[in-house]
Amino acid sequence: MGRRETKRDYWLLGITLTLILPMVAIAAGPESYRFPREPGTTKDGYPLPLAGQPITKTPVIAEEGIASVREYPEHYIPGQESLAENEMRITACGSWGPAPMRIGQGASCLLVQLGNGDAFIFDIGGGTVGNLFALGVHPAELDKVFITHFHLDHVGGIFPLFDAMGWGRNTPLHVWGSSGYTPELGITAFAQNIMAAAEWHIQNKQSILPRGGMTIIPHEIDISKFSPEQPRLLAYDENGVKIYAFPVIHALAGSMGYRLEWKGRTFVYTADSQPSTFEAEQGKGADVFIHEIFPSAEEFAHYNHMPIESAYGVMEEHTTPAELGRVYAIAEPRLGVGMHFTLDDDLIDSLFQRWRTTYDDPVLLMQDLTTINVTPDYIIVRQAKVDLLAWPPPPPELSEGLDMSTGEPSKAQRPAWLTKTRLPQEP
Ligand SMILES: [Zn+2]
Ligand SMILES: [Zn+2]
Repeated sequence: MGRRETKRDYWLLGITLTLILPMVAIAAGPESYRFPREPGTTKDGYPLPLAGQPITKTPVIAEEGIASVREYPEHYIPGQESLAENEMRITACGSWGPAPMRIGQGASCLLVQLGNGDAFIFDIGGGTVGNLFALGVHPAELDKVFITHFHLDHVGGIFPLFDAMGWGRNTPLHVWGSSGYTPELGITAFAQNIMAAAEWHIQNKQSILPRGGMTIIPHEIDISKFSPEQPRLLAYDENGVKIYAFPVIHALAGSMGYRLEWKGRTFVYTADSQPSTFEAEQGKGADVFIHEIFPSAEEFAHYNHMPIESAYGVMEEHTTPAELGRVYAIAEPRLGVGMHFTLDDDLIDSLFQRWRTTYDDPVLLMQDLTTINVTPDYIIVRQAKVDLLAWPPPPPELSEGLDMSTGEPSKAQRPAWLTKTRLPQEP
C-alpha cells in the first residue's frame, strides 16, 4: 500500500490559527485548559507524554496521490468538530495496563465514533469514565461496550459507566463478551454480578429516577464456535456496522479481539494478546490496528518493584515491541498502534528502537485522549483537549414508548429514630 507520510510541519497551520484566534473567544472551556506538561521531545525526537502531542512521528498519514488533507485544528476539542459521513474517530479514554490506573493514565478503554452517529466502547478499565464522559457524547449514547477479557484493567470502570443510569441513560447498558469456558467465567455472569453488587444503589434509585437504565444486558459470543475454519464470529450487525470477535492468546480461554467494519473503514483491537499469525490475519486490511505493547521484563520489574522472575511470568502473556512489529508486518495496517504501555519519558526511545527492528511503517504509542481520525484518504492523529469540568451534551431524543416510570421504594428504609434527628429543612 503506497502512502506519503507528512510530518509535523502540517501543524504549523493549526498552531498559527490558534494564535490568531481573537482573545474574546477564550472563555472558560476546553480551549483555556492547559496540558499537564510543556511540549518537549525525547532524545530520539518523540513527543513527551501529557504535553498535548501524540507520541508518533507520523501524525498525518496521507494516501499517495491525495492533493490535500482537510484542515483540522491542532487539538481535537469535543463538540467542536463533526465527522464526515464516511469518517471514523478513535479516542483512547485509557491507555494503560496491566495495573489499574495512574492519575495521568487510565486503564484500557477506547471510544470509536462513526460518521453515522454511532458510538462504541471497547473495554472499560478503571480511571477511564471521566475521559469518556468528557468526549462530548451523551451518556445515553454510550450504551454499547465490547469487552475483550475480564482482567480488571479492562473492566474496572464498569460501575461508573453503569451509574449513568437514571439521569443519563434510561435504557439498558449493553455489554458484549465471551460466553466463558464455564458460565461463571462469561459475560452473562459478569453482568449479573455487577447488577447484584449494585443492588443497594439500584433499590435506592429506583424510587426516585426512571428505572429504564438500571439493567445490564449481556450479549454472549459463543467461544466454543471458534475454530480454524470459523476464525471470527459476527457479534454485532446494525446500521451498516459489523463487529466481529476473534480469539486471542491471553490468560484464560475467552480472551478476544474485535474487528469493526463500516463503509470500507476497519478498526481492529486485540487488547492483551501474545503475538500470533492468527491475530495478524484477523487484522489484515485494517486502517487502524491497536494492540498491546509491553516494556522488557527488566524494565517492568524495575518500575513495578517486582522480582524479575514474576516479571518474566507476566511477560509470557504479553507482546514485546519487536514481536508487535512482526504482527504488523503481516497485517499491514495503515496505522499500527501500541497501547497498554507504562508511559515514562525514559522508556519511550528504547520502545521505539525495538519496535523499529521489525517494522518500518507508521506507528503510534497511545496515551490517554489520543484521537485518531480515519478517512479513505488520510489518517490524522492528535491529542484531545477536554474540559475537566465538562457537562454532558444535550440528550438524544427519547424513543417512543420509553418507560420513564420509577419503581417501588425499597423496604430497606432508614430507622425513623435516625431520620427524626435531621436538622429542619430550608424553606
Ligand atoms: Zn491488560
Ligand atoms: Zn489481560
